[in-house]
Amino acid sequence: MKYDAIVVGGGPSGMMTAITAAQRGKKILLLERMEKLGKKILATGNGRCNLSNSYLDEGCYRGEQPGFPYRLLEEFGLQELIQFFESLGMLMTETQGYYYPASFQASTVAETLIGKIKTLPIQVETGFEAETADKKKDTFRVYGNGVRYEGKNLVLAAGGCAQEKLGSNGSGYRLARGFHHRVTDTFPALVALEGKGSYFQWTAGVRNTCRVTVYANGEKIAAEKGEVQFTKYGISGIPVFQVSRYAINALRRKKKITVMLDLMPDMPTLKETAEEFRKYCGYKNTEEFFQGFLNKKLVYGILKRLGIRPEIPIRKLPAKDFRNILQMIRRFEIEISGYKGYDMAQITAGGVSTREVVPETLESKKLRGLYFTGELLDVDGTCGGYNLQWAFTSGYIAGRQIGKDDTN
Ligand SMILES: Cc1cc2nc3c(=O)[nH]c(=O)nc-3n(C[C@H](O)[C@H](O)[C@H](O)COP(=O)(O)OP(=O)(O)OC[C@H]3O[C@@H](n4cnc5c(N)ncnc54)[C@H](O)[C@@H]3O)c2cc1C
Repeated sequence: MKYDAIVVGGGPSGMMTAITAAQRGKKILLLERMEKLGKKILATGNGRCNLSNSYLDEGCYRGEQPGFPYRLLEEFGLQELIQFFESLGMLMTETQGYYYPASFQASTVAETLIGKIKTLPIQVETGFEAETADKKKDTFRVYGNGVRYEGKNLVLAAGGCAQEKLGSNGSGYRLARGFHHRVTDTFPALVALEGKGSYFQWTAGVRNTCRVTVYANGEKIAAEKGEVQFTKYGISGIPVFQVSRYAINALRRKKKITVMLDLMPDMPTLKETAEEFRKYCGYKNTEEFFQGFLNKKLVYGILKRLGIRPEIPIRKLPAKDFRNILQMIRRFEIEISGYKGYDMAQITAGGVSTREVVPETLESKKLRGLYFTGELLDVDGTCGGYNLQWAFTSGYIAGRQIGKDDTN
């Protein structure tokens, strides 16, 4: 049997492609290497699935052509996603610009998509890894598990390399290269950063709102504010994920990366307040005094880094040491030595070059009937629902184009 399209990858982008094309009367084969469709969706947004975001500017997506997704997002963006899920009986809800399923359960999103797939002319083969693919005359052939499937169109929706246990193992890049498509440099993104120094043992476990500023060879390259998680190896948390792509990119180009944390970004009068408190809190020791401002472990870490004994009475602390502590609260410097790998990254940066796909349809410029969607492409979004929105947008665009194909 020859399908109208074979979709490799049953993640959000592949499921969206399959649904959109099948709703237009096409016969689809959806291949998924895991035992279930949409496994990664279940892990998104800490199990709540942050699907999209009402805020959008030119900084939300990165890649060799960072402007690439915006035109398609205009065609199928947040409003269209809301309508799509409503047409499947699922409400979306918003908190501070971030969109979730109204149930706040990622499983609702996966089950809603799978439920719809069951009603459409979509044959699903799970536990099937597409190993190779080619095209002979006007037929794409996909091989795996000793079986061959044939289709008129082929959609590669296989994701990147992030978190192989959830499905994507980089095999999409191999399939794309097999069709002579260029894959840009790929690396883990939205991931924790590792720091040099022994002081992490004292600060591990702390969550603290910080302004995070990244410098490459002394030049500021990124900044973000939010809750930083201090770990045994360095720093994690959403603001760190947001700046990680810039830091990693520069690290890979052998630049010296320094992260400066302002540990009290919402306290512009720190110095004046501390001087005032010191006048009537002379009975406290240095550690107790600064615990009035900051998390205990951070205070201890700062004192250890500066070599100041915590038990010194604050009234006896030399003025220079007092100033240095305040300065370190403002500028807690971490030299970045590395970053966590794909097993901990939320996404893969880089991918199939967007220069080689038709920007309006996501069809290959090299081979008719071949499409690419989602994270497999060289499009990576920041944290906040941008990657899932892109997966759905790109899946919709490819599915719609396949649906238009009336050459049968
Ligand atoms: C822990 C975590 C949390 C996240 N949270 C969010 C969030 O809250 N909001 C957000 O926007 N984004 C989030 N993301 C990112 C988001 O999940 C991905 O960007 C998105 O799932 C990409 O969709 P996709 O369909 O392109 O690829 P994937 O979701 O990776 O799906 C690809 C599918 O293809 C299958 N596959 C791969 N190769 C083959 C093959 N050769 N043959 C057959 N099948 C194959 C895989 O098993 C997989 O099911 C998160 C990611 C992680 C890891």
